[in-house]
Amino acid sequence: MDYTHLSKRLHRVGELVPNAAKLADIGSDHAYLPAYLVLNKKIISAIAGEVVEGPYQSAKNLVAELNLSSVIEVRKGDGLDVINSLDDISAVTICGMGGTLIRDILDRGFKSGHLNGSEVLLLQPNVGEKTLRTWLNKHSYVIENEDIIRENDKNYEIIVAKKTEHGENLSELELMFGPKLLQEKSDIFIQKWHHELKQFNNILVQLEKSTKDVSKKIEEVKEKINLIHEVIE
Ligand code: SAM
Repeated sequence: MDYTHLSKRLHRVGELVPNAAKLADIGSDHAYLPAYLVLNKKIISAIAGEVVEGPYQSAKNLVAELNLSSVIEVRKGDGLDVINSLDDISAVTICGMGGTLIRDILDRGFKSGHLNGSEVLLLQPNVGEKTLRTWLNKHSYVIENEDIIRENDKNYEIIVAKKTEHGENLSELELMFGPKLLQEKSDIFIQKWHHELKQFNNILVQLEKSTKDVSKKIEEVKEKINLIHEVIE
């Protein structure tokens, strides 16, 4: 992958970024996504945020090499701390991290006011999608779009969310599977949940062998297995 050929995962995120956005890409690593979107005239400008020195330098180097410093600013800092109201950010991408980390970045950004609620969020958690949807749901974000793609034998979910006055009330099923993914039930989605079902069945077998009191855990796993059956059959 480089800034001319994004991974399938980042390419799909890029497609979902609104045209003419002012983007903040948090956890930008090499700044591939903002560079690609600027070069393809999809976005007006970007801030690439990175907290770790190595990836921050990689992002700075790429932006300098491509002469894009007037349109992409690379800032070092934790999560959404790197943006402020003067940046007038209209879209935020946070990709390639765990759902819990993305949730924590959003939560800190929300509490500190760096996230003002006008931005569309494009989130690509590697795991922990339910945790992230639960935070969005609790904070009046509506999930406008979702996708699931498969690359290098891994599934990646992408969530597009926008804050509204009243939000939406997602069910347990929707939080777990994704409201839009659940409506669509694509082949990749069905494959993913067949795989998860196998994993949960294995966990159940192990739990049932346990000599400790794991009855609560067993009930939880059984509940998940039932939900998966309900969805994929
Ligand atoms: N977003 C790119 C992608 O999807 O390919 C890079 C993903 S990389 C696995 C995650 C990046 O997020 C790393 O470069 C890491 O340093 C950065 N990161 C992790 N926590 C962060 C935080 N709190 N604030 C900013 N960047 C963070």
